[in-house]
Amino acid sequence: MKKITVLGSTGSIGTSTLDVVRRNRHRFEIFALVAGYNVELLEQQIREFRPAIAVGATEDVILNLRRRMSDNGFPRECWPELAWGREGKLLAATASEADFVMSAIVGVEGLEATHEAVRLGKTVGLANKEVLVAGGSLVMRASAESGSELIPVDSEHNGAHQCLRAGERKEVAKLILTASGGPFRRTPREALHRVTPADALNHPTWKMGQRITIDSATMMNKGFEVIEACWLFGFEPDDVDVVIHPQSSVHAMVEYKDGSVIAQVSTTDMRMPIQYALTYPERADAPVPRLDWRQARTWEFEPPDLEKFPLLSLAYQAQRTGGSAPCTLNAADEVAVEAFLQEQISFPQISALVEETLSRVPVRQPRSVGEILEIDRESRETARRLIRQGALTGGSFQPLVQA
Ligand code: NDP
Repeated sequence: MKKITVLGSTGSIGTSTLDVVRRNRHRFEIFALVAGYNVELLEQQIREFRPAIAVGATEDVILNLRRRMSDNGFPRECWPELAWGREGKLLAATASEADFVMSAIVGVEGLEATHEAVRLGKTVGLANKEVLVAGGSLVMRASAESGSELIPVDSEHNGAHQCLRAGERKEVAKLILTASGGPFRRTPREALHRVTPADALNHPTWKMGQRITIDSATMMNKGFEVIEACWLFGFEPDDVDVVIHPQSSVHAMVEYKDGSVIAQVSTTDMRMPIQYALTYPERADAPVPRLDWRQARTWEFEPPDLEKFPLLSLAYQAQRTGGSAPCTLNAADEVAVEAFLQEQISFPQISALVEETLSRVPVRQPRSVGEILEIDRESRETARRLIRQGALTGGSFQPLVQA
């Protein structure tokens, strides 16, 4: 029986992970559930999965959870050990009982606990992008030292992981990641300043958390994936191509030296890569929709428009620069996405703000999670200051560079 810690159990990836566990009770058991603020869902998950440990973001969350479990008559002898904040996350991720850690907290909040699990040699299912975008060098070094296996859950990297099983790493020429193109694939560049958060949240093929959905609309998400792929599989940025594929059926392709290309194809259901990570190296039946090959279908592939989506180029640049540049890229983007969702800045200003922040925060070589978190804080503060200055000068944030 594999015992699992789910970091981010109440999110989109977390709930899909629990669905995979629910359908495979004979193989998997939940050891710890780590949530942020969604007490109601955390309580339901505790009742159903009976973890040994449950964690919330703050002490208040846990006080609230206690109250709910008590008021709802959940027998005390079934309560898990309760913890919160940084210590809670570390406890859940590093306990010796946890065989597998699903890293699905959104943002750098998930970095330290994931890094510690890797350092201890645990098998980690990696959904959280920020872990490698912000802390790639540190996390990959820890993985090499401890022998921890990092199994990507993100559909493109999971696809790449599968394609790479077709040959030796030294036989690989390049990796191709697909992107749906998001909701604005056909929107003219000049019209982007009019798009609303609701338009940007309307992703054509995937249902995901808010941050990643906006990042898909700007193609920042694909940029993060290029960075992640470089770390996970040891590629240089120029060996990773991005191609727009609106049907989102092909997730990744690996071109081998002899010109043969291996593609990974499946429907858009995250339970497939999640289950792959949980059962790897085996495969098991999965309750996901299948592509119906008796139906005629057309698949399109086209190059991305880098002028319309400058964040994709910025991600390549940040990875080439190295050091803390990708960490700043991520932090600035998170602030920009929040500001866009609150209608403080327009859609094209997301990339303008990220570019300006990158130019202002000096690049360093972080040697610890603490240093990464410090650079993350500094980058966020710089981005927030730029927004405030924009508001002071013009009543609304002025684009600092033409997006
Ligand atoms: P969601 O926003 O749906 O979920 C985020 C999870 O993180 C929630 O469980 C949330 O808890 C938890 N969380 C937030 N802050 C804290 C905190 N301070 N302490 C503990 N937990 C916290 O995101 P997704 O599931 O969509 O994405 C998770 C990660 O996976 C992201 O990095 C994303 O980029 C990546 N990813 C997601 C994909 C998808 O299909 N959704 C695909 C590929 C990668 P709560 O809700 O209780 O506050």
